[in-house]
Amino acid sequence: MEGIPNYVFVRSLTASRWRPRISNTSLGFGERDQHNGADLLEGYGRLRIQMNKAFDIGVESLSASGRADNGGLERSPSVHTNHIVHSNKFDASGKTTVDCGVVSADVTAASRSFGDTANGGTFFLETFGCQMNDHDSEKVAGLLLSRGYRQVETPEAARMILYNTCSIREKAAQKVFSRLGEYRERGADKIIGVLGCVAQQEGQDIFKRAPWVSLVCGSASYRKLPEMLAELEAGNKRVTGLDNDTDETFETEITRRDNPWRAYLTIIEGCDKACAYCVVPHTRGPERSRGSESILREVRQLAELGYSEVQLLGQTVNSYVDPTARRMKFSELLLEVAQVAGIRRVRFTTSHPRDFGVDIVEAIDREPKLCDHIHLPVQSGSTKVLRAMARTYTREEYLEKIALIRSARRPISITTDIIVGFPGETDEDFAETLSMLDEAQYDGVFGFKYSPRPNTPSLALNDPISEEIKGQRLAMIQEKQRVIQTARNLAMLGQELDVFVSNKSRRENQWSGHTTSNRVISFSSQEKELLGSYVRVKVTDSGTGSLVGLEARD
Ligand code: SAM
Ligand code: SF4
Repeated sequence: MEGIPNYVFVRSLTASRWRPRISNTSLGFGERDQHNGADLLEGYGRLRIQMNKAFDIGVESLSASGRADNGGLERSPSVHTNHIVHSNKFDASGKTTVDCGVVSADVTAASRSFGDTANGGTFFLETFGCQMNDHDSEKVAGLLLSRGYRQVETPEAARMILYNTCSIREKAAQKVFSRLGEYRERGADKIIGVLGCVAQQEGQDIFKRAPWVSLVCGSASYRKLPEMLAELEAGNKRVTGLDNDTDETFETEITRRDNPWRAYLTIIEGCDKACAYCVVPHTRGPERSRGSESILREVRQLAELGYSEVQLLGQTVNSYVDPTARRMKFSELLLEVAQVAGIRRVRFTTSHPRDFGVDIVEAIDREPKLCDHIHLPVQSGSTKVLRAMARTYTREEYLEKIALIRSARRPISITTDIIVGFPGETDEDFAETLSMLDEAQYDGVFGFKYSPRPNTPSLALNDPISEEIKGQRLAMIQEKQRVIQTARNLAMLGQELDVFVSNKSRRENQWSGHTTSNRVISFSSQEKELLGSYVRVKVTDSGTGSLVGLEARD
């Protein structure tokens, strides 16, 4: 950590010290008067982390994530961050209080102004949709924070309301306009902006349907957001960013991550696959991959900040093509990310079956830090429907990919997406989708009723399926999967699994987290603080959607 500049989110202020949010740390930094009274609260600062102080802290518990650094024995106290405690007095068996030398963080290189509210620059950001949207919002928030805007918790407290939207299905898009109506009532004098897929899809028409909106910006134009906001501040009433023929990716100096332990990283944006039903190629533009070195740099920075799990994102994450001279393959990138010191789990989603090769399975076999979970959307079990969907693989080719995954040396869980009621889907076609569930034995299925979308090829197809039939087919998928999943989870009884703890229940001694196969497990433990740590848990009970367990003791 020493000397490495990092961005931290400043969460609270004690009598004299700022408290950054570096992975749940309780460490304070900097003296208030060092900043001439500047308000760091809820702002981001570029900090230089220095080992310049040592003081005692009470460690309530010790996780098993020790790693050597600076030549000393280092262990992660689960109550604090996993990079701040250096101790050579560590008692390996102990769960008792130990005295530790602590790396403290001092603001030695504040490079920006913080929380500059001179222009009433407060924003409220609501996000709807997939993980990519969640992560886009984290980057948009970081971009605005770096320009001096301040994020607030309620629309009422904001000068500017931004709504990051989804248009993958009709219901999602409808929701946007009712939400915009609510925002209008809650703040007549505010700047209201629509971001994301609905912005790109509806474009200028949003101004007609919701004239109180003043900013419409698709995801390919996020880099230009500060300039667009400056135009609004200068009095311009309507500003748009709707280009999506870019070859650039959206990278930010600061990302305001919501989760203190699991970090998202988009490695490939847009999509070139052109599935007949899908708006993504239209709303997110062409495929463009981020350079491998820039990805690895960010992963290293995340590890320094205490993140131990990263999730690489892309609509077709495994179609990644390194644009730099290294020309790193996706599977090679996975292995390099896993090598970064401090990273314990690497996830990736979503994989497209056509680009899924044996090298990915071999990488998972080789490197335990690569999580044993693959999300591989099939969409339909019928080759005829897959052709109509333009999915670029047949049922048999898809099943070959499943066989590849099942041939791995360690069990890998597989989840999928299915669309029922695509135009022309007969009872026989649907029966093939049901039998796909039997053959593939998925660990999770996300089922959707086909929803016709603007700007997609399938909009022109005849032979629509009624809503009633779509509903019946979806219910049949869900019931079949319920039986399969219940049996698969039951087979895990008695196993001991590593769980990354992300939730503390209101019930005493109850925690929950994810296994590497991405199953949710609730468990009991007498430990006082486990959030953000890894715990070995024995499975004692199971249901369809989750497992139940007890902390395993040696
Ligand atoms: N890129 C991923 C892939 O290749 O499967 C999927 C991305 S999409 C955001 C997530 C899921 O939404 C898809 O896998 C599909 O099942 C579903 N979806 C997309 N368009 C849809 C539509 N028009 N109607 C119903 N479901 C749809
Ligand atoms: Fe949409 Fe198909 Fe691209 Fe996935 S692969 S984002 S479903 S077009």
